[in-house]
Amino acid sequence: MIQVGIMGGTFDPIHYGHLLAAESAREACGLDEVWFIPAAVPPLKEHAPQASAEERLEMVYRAIDFQPYFRAMDIELERGGTSYTIDTVKSLRELYPGREFSFIIGSDRVNDLAEWHRIDELAELASFIAVERPGVEMDPSHLPPGVRERLKRCEMPLLGISSTDIRERRQQGRSIRFMVPDKVYQFIKRNELYGS
Ligand code: NAP
Repeated sequence: MIQVGIMGGTFDPIHYGHLLAAESAREACGLDEVWFIPAAVPPLKEHAPQASAEERLEMVYRAIDFQPYFRAMDIELERGGTSYTIDTVKSLRELYPGREFSFIIGSDRVNDLAEWHRIDELAELASFIAVERPGVEMDPSHLPPGVRERLKRCEMPLLGISSTDIRERRQQGRSIRFMVPDKVYQFIKRNELYGS
């Protein structure tokens, strides 16, 4: 079976934290590939993305350019509407047989995993890889047993970068250089995304 990690996200914008989380999961869990899948409308988020779907996808393509193990997919953007992971995993299993899927999530997401749409069914179709950042507490004890036993953990170095911080920096006219790959940086500047 080919082992595929799914790196879902709003990616508004994608940054080095996302790439390092994906690479850490790939190495620790022996994944053959990691597929980056931008959400159309992310569930459980209060605000809509600022950049358009096309812009977020384009930034993902630019970020993973030439990385042999990374792919970008527009399956959730094509589907539109709220991007429930259960729908995505079901489609991927139909479209790409012979693969096992693991959904890569950051420490904070573990804490809301129990609220995900049809989480018990999702846990039967995919496992989860929780990427632990030093100093960020994650507490899987509250998860349903079927979900908890499908949760693998791996470590990554602490990288204090967030999409929210990047957007705020742009608003304030501050630098985001070296927080995102250079091709993403150039795209954000050229298209005047997130202010200034
Ligand atoms: P995001 O903000 O773009 O982040 C994507 C992932 O990268 C998150 O797991 C995030 O973890 C992690 N990450 C971000 N910065 C990081 C850093 N510096 N170091 C390490 N990890 C970092 O995406 P999101 O909006 O949270 O969405 C995550 C995925 O979960 C999406 O595919 C979404 O559709 C899915 N989701 C599904 C449901 C559902 O099916 N009902 C509900 C919620 C989410 P942190 O959050 O810990 O930063």
